[in-house]
This record gives sequence, structure tokens and C-alpha cells, in this order.
Amino acid sequence: MSAPLYTRMLILGSGPAGLSAAIYGARAGLAPIVVQGIQPGGQLMTTTDVENYPGYREVIQGPWLMEEMKAQAEHVGAKIIWDSITEVDLSQRPFRLLGDGGKVYACDVLVIATGAQARWLGLESETLLRGKGVSACATCDGFFFRGKKVAVIGGGNTAVEEAIFLTNHSDDVTLIHRREQLRAEQILQQRLFANRKIKVMWNTVVERFVAGDDPQGLIGIDLSDTVTGAASHLLVDGCFVAIGHAPATELFRHESRLELDAEGYIKVQGGTTQTSIRGVFACGDVMDRIYRQAVTAAGTGCMAALDAQKFLAAEGFTS
Ligand code: FAD
Ligand code: NAP
Repeated sequence: MSAPLYTRMLILGSGPAGLSAAIYGARAGLAPIVVQGIQPGGQLMTTTDVENYPGYREVIQGPWLMEEMKAQAEHVGAKIIWDSITEVDLSQRPFRLLGDGGKVYACDVLVIATGAQARWLGLESETLLRGKGVSACATCDGFFFRGKKVAVIGGGNTAVEEAIFLTNHSDDVTLIHRREQLRAEQILQQRLFANRKIKVMWNTVVERFVAGDDPQGLIGIDLSDTVTGAASHLLVDGCFVAIGHAPATELFRHESRLELDAEGYIKVQGGTTQTSIRGVFACGDVMDRIYRQAVTAAGTGCMAALDAQKFLAAEGFTS
């Protein structure tokens, strides 16, 4: 086995949290290495318009913003590696981590910025039809449904944005929500209701995604009304499940020293990014079940780097 790649500060994840930690870590002289994971740039790579990241008066594109963050991190000296961590040993320092291709990493401080992944409804028919009409990313797959009927499941910002985005490709978009009130912010709701290409089905849940015989793709959705119990069927060619995201903490399921909350988010000590393991810091969506925004992820990424720097100084490491 090759010798471990040692770094003082290792950062898992290349979303806004990981890249902000990298920028601050590099400028503090910690020469951080970022392992970017299977989604370089993180969740914003799956969206188009970003209107609420401070500093840009015009609408910017999510992938562009992440390219800029990456370039800035590299510019100040962070090293960004194309790998994904599959195993961690946080029992002693330096911490040791195993990459997908067998590379071993060793570090004095670890910043976990693994973000979140799309949640699924958990239906068997959903699993069978994923990639065959059922998707969790309209920005990625909406184009395949040009001129066809599509549906979006969910009532949060993501679902509403996905429904609006899909009207670029389809004149027949149905938003299906389990309650009679959306969770999405008001400005998005106003845009949704003003869009004549979008219908909303309230108090409705998916019972089954229905496959056609030839080709074996989605042809419709069996639904039920949560108030009346009435069953219905919606003919659609594509359906986008947008019911939120779950923290990406599967990697730590064997690491009982790293405390997670009931929903799997990493617990941090009040007002800091310090986890239950000394020298391990967490930032971004993986530790934030409330705000989950690019700007808050970037903010806690900055905090993680500053917390890590302070920790190393207290331990006698100098940059
Ligand atoms: P993420 O962006 O989720 O990045 C996680 C990173 O961790 C990825 O690079 C991944 O590859 C990496 N990773 C995961 N596991 C491993 C591993 N085992 N090893 C190494 N790396 C790993 N927020 C806004 O403020 N404005 C918006 O307009 C907006 N639009 C959005 C639109 C959509 C469709 C979605 C889904 C979210 C949107 N958000 C928006 C929310 C925003 O994207 C997130 O809050 C933000 O990306 C969280 O950043 P993060 O760095 O914590 O995690
Ligand atoms: P979210 O806010 O958690 O909303 C999830 C939606 O899915 C809710 O409406 C929820 O219904 C519904 N849902 C959850 N489980 C369901 C199930 N099993 N069956 C049917 N419906 C289900 O998730 P999100 O919309 O992905 O947003 C995540 C975070 O990213 C939020 O903080 C959001 O603000 C942020 N974000 C921001 C922007 C932006 O700023 N423009 C864009 C996208 C995302 P209930 O309402 O009934 O709970």
C-alpha cells in the first residue's frame, strides 16, 4: 500500500461549505486538501438561477458560482483532489481516511462538508423507474421531457423552482403536494401561481409510479387524496421528486464517537463547528438542519477553518 497522503487540514466536500473552508484554511497557511466527492461543486451544480447569494445584483448560475469558488480556493493555495472518501478512522490523530481508488489520507484536522443528498419517497416503483422517467433533478433531466407532461412532488423551494424551470421544456407541469400550503418562500409561490403552464394538486400523495410496457418508462402516477382518500391517476412522462435532502453522513455510521442527531445531522458544539471528536469540524448542510442555504454553508465553512486554525494553534502546530 502506498504511503498516506498527509496534510494538516483535510476537507471532505467541494460545495460552498468545503470550498469556503478551503479558502480560509489556505489563507491561514494550512495548505488544505479538498477531496471533492462524487458531486464536485455540490448541490448548486444541479440548479440554474441563484438570486440570493450576496454580491451579485444580477441572477447568477449555480454551476458558475461553484466554478468561481473552486478557482478562488485553488488560487489561494488549496489543493483539490478528484476522489471520494469511503472509510474513516477517527480513533486517533492523525486521522486516516480511505479514498475510493485506494489512496490513504492522513490529517491533523478534518473538516466534514459532505452536504446533503436528495431524499426519495421510498416506493418500490420509484426505485424501478429512477432514470426511466423518475428523477430528482429537473435541471439535469428536464430537457429529456421537451413537449411532454411532467409532474413535481413536494412543496418546498426546490419543488417550486423545479416546476417553474420545467415550463421551459413543457407546457403541462403539475406540482403535487401532500398538504394544502406550500413551504416555499413567498416570492417563489407568487411566480408559481402566476405561471399558466403549472397546475397544483393539493393534499395529494403518490401511491405508485406506473411503468409502460414498451419502452419500460414512466407513463403515469397513481395518486390518493389525503383528505378524502379518493384515488386518481395522472398521465405523465416524467416526474421529479423534490422532497428535500438528507445529510450525507452514511460514511460515519460505524464511527460512534461522531455524534449525530436523530435525523443524521452532525452535532456541533453551540456557536462553533466543533464536533464530538476533537480536531473534527463540520460545516454546511451536513450539520445544519434549519437554514441549508449556500450562504450559510459558506459561512459555517469559514467558521470551520477558523475553528480548526485555533485548535491547531492550541495544540502547538504552527503554520
Ligand atoms: P453540498 O453543496 O451538498 O456539497 C457537498 C459536497 O460533499 C459535494 O461536493 C460532494 O461531492 C461532497 N461529498 C459527499 N460525500 C463525500 C465523500 N464521501 N467524500 C468526499 N466528498 C464527499 N441555496 C441558496 O442559497 N440559494 C439557492 O438558490 C439554492 N438553490 C438550490 C437549488 C437546488 C436544486 C438545491 C438542491 C439546493 C439549493 N440551495 C440553494 C441549497 C444549497 O445548494 C445548499 O445549501 C448548499 O449547496 C450546501 O452546501 P454544502 O457545501 O454544505 O453541501
Ligand atoms: P424542504 O424545504 O425540506 O421541503 C421539502 C418538501 O417536500 C416539503 O414541502 C415537504 O412537505 C415535502 N415532503 C417531504 N417528505 C415528503 C414525502 N415523503 N412525501 C411527500 N412530500 C414530502 O426541501 P427543499 O425544498 O429541497 O429545500 C431544502 C433547503 O434548500 C431549504 O432550506 C431551502 O430553503 C433551500 N433551497 C433554497 C432555494 C432558494 O433559496 N432559492 C432553492 C432550493 C432550495 P411539507 O411541507 O408537508 O413538510
